[in-house]
Amino acid sequence: MSAMTPIQEQVHQWLEEERVDIFLAYRIVEGHPLPYAFTREHIEETGELVTGPARYSLEKFATHIASRYPDARIGMVARDCNQRALNVLRVWNQLKEGQVETVSVNCCPSDLRAHADCSYLERRPVGVVKQQLGQVPNQAVADVDAQPSAERFDRWMYEFQKCIKCYGCRNICPVCFCNECSLEHAELIGTGHLPPDIPIFHLVRAVHMAGRCIDCGLCEDACPAEIPLRLLYRKVNAIVKDLFEYETGSGDTLPPFSILGPKPTMSPTPLLAVAQE
Ligand code: SF4
Ligand code: SF4
Ligand code: SF4
Repeated sequence: MSAMTPIQEQVHQWLEEERVDIFLAYRIVEGHPLPYAFTREHIEETGELVTGPARYSLEKFATHIASRYPDARIGMVARDCNQRALNVLRVWNQLKEGQVETVSVNCCPSDLRAHADCSYLERRPVGVVKQQLGQVPNQAVADVDAQPSAERFDRWMYEFQKCIKCYGCRNICPVCFCNECSLEHAELIGTGHLPPDIPIFHLVRAVHMAGRCIDCGLCEDACPAEIPLRLLYRKVNAIVKDLFEYETGSGDTLPPFSILGPKPTMSPTPLLAVAQE
């Protein structure tokens, strides 16, 4: 057996010393790096642990484990985006303080390497028309805001009508954790047709991401219709920052919209009652 890397040794030690019950990282399966849960029971597998180049919301696995085993101590490799997501999940009581212990890996923006193995920095190619219109991936919110509102409206309606309602954006998102999702509520989003009701389907999700989205870009990576979702959520978080000076993912306080309560509901609820819960 070849010598273990420092990170493999560290995870082996954490499991052996019972510092964590489970460790979330990656393992090469059939030539692909896939998310994997390393355990004490199969501690020899830590020799196969890798940290990249894949990028999944490991913290989403952590919240599922924590909801089933509330006392589980979870270890995880974490990039910057994972850390921000963990902050949000703690704030929203999806993970207990100190429940997840992380091992940091190179990420972007990083002082350690000019270009880390992270799709965050990859610029996806766009077609000629989009290039001519200046609709480049990873576009700055300010650049879009500078365009006339009618143009912006047409652009977003064009993007939204490509949606095939696959829920990939929600399913991959580390901070989409609701048991009942508004996007599947028939009174809000009609069923039986594609695209889903636009723009309401996307605006519902965008509103829910205000003060929650940590700009990991996984939704946009997952979207088969290549809708610039991240740009949309950056916009709502720019509004949250401007209006409330709330920096999503960095603090330990609930975002301003938490006054609406953690459970989406179609019944009007007095705000005072929600605040007292
Ligand atoms: S960028 Fe997308 S996947 Fe990542 S937190 Fe925001 S909405 Fe969720
Ligand atoms: S209700 Fe909103 S925040 Fe909750 S899972 Fe659905 S889209 Fe995500
Ligand atoms: S991932 Fe893209 S196509 Fe699928 S529901 Fe989300 S926006 Fe629509």
